[in-house]
Amino acid sequence: MSAWNVGKVVEHKQWNNTLYSLYVESDIEPFEAGQFVKIALEINGELVGRPYSLVNPPDSQPLELFYIEVPNGLLTSHLVNLKPGDNIQIATRAHGFMILDEVPQAKHLWLMATGTGVGPFLSMLMTDKPWQRFERAILVYAVRTLSDLCYQERITQILAMHPGQFSYIPFLSRESSDFAMTGRIPQAIIDGRLEARAGIGISAEDSQVMLCGNPQMVKETNNTLTERGLKKHRRFEPGQITVENYW
Ligand SMILES: Cc1cc2nc3c(=O)[nH]c(=O)nc-3n(C[C@H](O)[C@H](O)[C@H](O)COP(=O)(O)OP(=O)(O)OC[C@H]3O[C@@H](n4cnc5c(N)ncnc54)[C@H](O)[C@@H]3O)c2cc1C
Repeated sequence: MSAWNVGKVVEHKQWNNTLYSLYVESDIEPFEAGQFVKIALEINGELVGRPYSLVNPPDSQPLELFYIEVPNGLLTSHLVNLKPGDNIQIATRAHGFMILDEVPQAKHLWLMATGTGVGPFLSMLMTDKPWQRFERAILVYAVRTLSDLCYQERITQILAMHPGQFSYIPFLSRESSDFAMTGRIPQAIIDGRLEARAGIGISAEDSQVMLCGNPQMVKETNNTLTERGLKKHRRFEPGQITVENYW
């Protein structure tokens, strides 16, 4: 059972029809970039809680959650109505092993996300760890349309902070643009387009890959990387692939 705190909503940003960032002030225990926290609302007399990754880096307030309104979603259809000043329940402790301290040393860190799965990677990229441990960090952020690509200002800020060390590769699956690659991540690994765009290869020797978001992307990318000789990382059986499925 989680212990709950009251969190106060201080801002609620709507990016487009379905994507939102919720900013909440609350004292939670120290967390690691990449972890998630459970939040809850009382709905029809019952506390309904779901996990959300923290987008803000550790030791910062407010807490920042990036979420999509799921059609008929039990919690998210109520989350969208929150206004500054409203209270939510938030678990006092964050959890999760998709953190850089769990990732073995390598030359290159690949962070591959679909949709809201970019959130925990933004938290990591705002800490010192990727830049102290890896020669290059590559953020691959896949969405359907251009309007679904959020946090472009923050990504531009990270690019400016780490020139030459950070690469950003956006993907659109249902539109084309000069700015983003077209298609899906696993196919772009198979046909070599992703590595060509990054200017570096993915290999078991040099790469650590973190996958987050849509379980289909996670599964297909994991299978593609496995065929290339990479394997799932486990604490007692080190590998190169770390995953977090959002559903
Ligand atoms: C470790 C972890 C971290 C998570 N972090 C986030 C996060 O940072 N942001 C976020 O939006 N969600 C995140 N999720 C998903 C989140 O916990 C909820 O499942 C989601 O918000 C839907 O809740 P709901 O009650 O509205 O929908 P429900 O009525 O519970 O319906 C669940 C269904 O919604 C769909 N769904 C769930 N999450 C997503 C999603 N992110 N994108 C598209 N479809 C989805 C799936 O079809 C799923 O079966 C995370 C899940 C896990 C396990």
